Amino acid sequence: MAIESINPATNKLLRRFEALTDEAVGQKIALAADAFLSYANVPLDHRALCLRKLASILYQETEELAALITLEMGKPFEASRFELHKCADACRYYADNAARILASEPIPTEQNHSYVRWDPLGIVLAVMPWNFPFWQVFRFLAPALMAGNVALLKHASNVPQCALAIESLVRRAGFPRGVFQTLLLEVHQVEHVLADDRIAAVTLTGSEVAGRAIGAQAGWLIKKSVLELGGSDPFIVMPSADLELAVETAVRARCVNSGQSCIAAKRFLVADEIYDTFESRFVAGMQTMRVGDPMKEDTDIGPLATVRMVEQLEAQVKAATLAGARILTGGERMVGEGNYFEPTVLTSVPRNSAVYREELFGPVAMLFRIHDVNEAVEIANDTPFGLAASAWTRDPAEQQFLISALQCGGVFLNSMVASDPRLPFGGIKRSGYGRELSTAGMREFLNAKTVVIASARSDELRS
Ligand code: NAP
Repeated sequence: MAIESINPATNKLLRRFEALTDEAVGQKIALAADAFLSYANVPLDHRALCLRKLASILYQETEELAALITLEMGKPFEASRFELHKCADACRYYADNAARILASEPIPTEQNHSYVRWDPLGIVLAVMPWNFPFWQVFRFLAPALMAGNVALLKHASNVPQCALAIESLVRRAGFPRGVFQTLLLEVHQVEHVLADDRIAAVTLTGSEVAGRAIGAQAGWLIKKSVLELGGSDPFIVMPSADLELAVETAVRARCVNSGQSCIAAKRFLVADEIYDTFESRFVAGMQTMRVGDPMKEDTDIGPLATVRMVEQLEAQVKAATLAGARILTGGERMVGEGNYFEPTVLTSVPRNSAVYREELFGPVAMLFRIHDVNEAVEIANDTPFGLAASAWTRDPAEQQFLISALQCGGVFLNSMVASDPRLPFGGIKRSGYGRELSTAGMREFLNAKTVVIASARSDELRS
């Protein structure tokens, strides 16, 4: 696939880039390897200073950078601003907390001294998607660089301008040359980069297909990998829920990022007693979403990021109706230029249909009526994915049951699922493995080195 920046609101080509030659890739890997040798010894305080500078630049240049994000992948402008500020928060979180996370941990044993120290691994390759073109990268780069690793980024081929902008921001923040580099690559080149002995580890956020390819190769090469893949998160509403808040949040949780978020709520499981009210209010809420020019401040849903994404969603909705699903609102790709899709609500999606088990990456919701909390959990877990879940109930017993029974990486009660630098983020099942953010995310690419210092003298040993 060509590396092209195309405005999804018009499908006009903005810029086209040539992929790096193998020779240029080799030079960049060599530069990263050299950079690691000295960067691993740069004091933590200095790394923190650079991360804080990076956060300040993100705030100072929010308007220009947000315009670039919106132009290149179609997210509403306000959401682009929010994304940049979230990146700044992650930088500040790791600048503030790295000393604690990286501190050696003494462990009492019968020896003189034993402890665990956390050492960086080296060059980490990051393969990233376009849906949060800054946030996906920053939630990796902030902990990785703070810990003393260096990074190579292969970003999605439709956001090359964002990828290059991030590289330039990192340099301007004062990080040494070679510590973070963008590689403009085509997919087939990734295998060659990962196979290079100087690459220590890989992290991928993206589809199952890409996850399988990267995970299999990393396994074969015996390199550490983290995979953040797709999701079809349930949003469970029980009778004791605050219905008004649940409906309002449900609409937001489905339409966040124009529906293109791994942790967007995708399946709405609503208790029989309140189902009809929820359905009518939810459909009305979806109908109020303003779809249009993402540069406009009052737009809720922009175009989908690529023609491929909108065509795929259209095909999935068509397949759902052929299988017996009913459309309560929307259901069509919008006519005119750009990759716009109507906010859509599906019901009666048969459990044996393909769509039931797929991720819908756009503003399309599936509603299900459930009879009790056991059925809610049964349907919620009946998916290949296991990223996160949102559940709405004020009943303490139901809350405890849902927390323990839902098979996923995070349960959010009475709120929508969201990532936060302070909390681990990641999935189970085919949503991937490993964690990003918080202490857990930083330690994914560290060597937990066990150090044992025994007494050097026999008289000490006897005493
Ligand atoms: P994708 O096709 O897998 O692309 C993601 C990245 O992987 C891109 O850089 C892509 O490069 C690269 N890639 C694709 N196939 C590859 C292969 N065989 N080997 C190596 N690299 C490969 O993902 P997408 O469909 O554009 O993005 C949406 C998916 O990402 C959804 O499933 C979504 O749920 C998931 N996602 C997950 C999370 C999470 O945290 N769990 C967050 C956001 C998104 P090219 O662009 O050049 O193809």
